[in-house]
Amino acid sequence: LIASLEQVDQTYIMVKPDGVQRGLVGEIISRFEKKGFKLTGLKLFQCSKELAEEHYKDLKQKSFFPKLIDYITSGPVVCMAWEGVGVVASARKLIGATDPLQAEPGTIRGDLAVQTGRNVVHGSDSPENGKREIALWFKEGEVCDWTPVQSPWLR
Ligand code: ADP
Ligand code: MG
Repeated sequence: LIASLEQVDQTYIMVKPDGVQRGLVGEIISRFEKKGFKLTGLKLFQCSKELAEEHYKDLKQKSFFPKLIDYITSGPVVCMAWEGVGVVASARKLIGATDPLQAEPGTIRGDLAVQTGRNVVHGSDSPENGKREIALWFKEGEVCDWTPVQSPWLR
């Protein structure tokens, strides 16, 4: 009842090509499921250069931008939409710092990655970007707004 008064947000989470190649998809999905968030979109997808550039448009001026686009388009990614109270900030905590060597143990990057340029997963940095990125990566009808069986233990 109290949680229902709080803002429910959406975030865009993506297993990057290295995460798919290394067989980490299940492990990464599992961390968000176990935390208690609701999966509303999921697909394996080979993205175009144009889509990768649009997704990372705020980083266009960075020296690593071309390498980042090559990395993200190097193989299929797993696109996910997750929903919940505080999901954007919480997902960023679960993911850990951008540089996996700085990421705390217990976080996805802290446990599973070494290099910034191979950091296995993406998570939106604000509720606004969560909405923007979900709209960018998913077509209409691919995101499901489903109601979980009422659990008194979550939300
Ligand atoms: P985050 O993914 O933690 O939100 P940023 O938005 O700053 O990090 O950067 C987006 C992605 O660009 C990072 O996850 C990483 O894959 C890549 N990246 C960021 N900084 C560097 C860098 N210095 N060298 C190579 N790749 C980088
Ligand atoms: Mg970012």
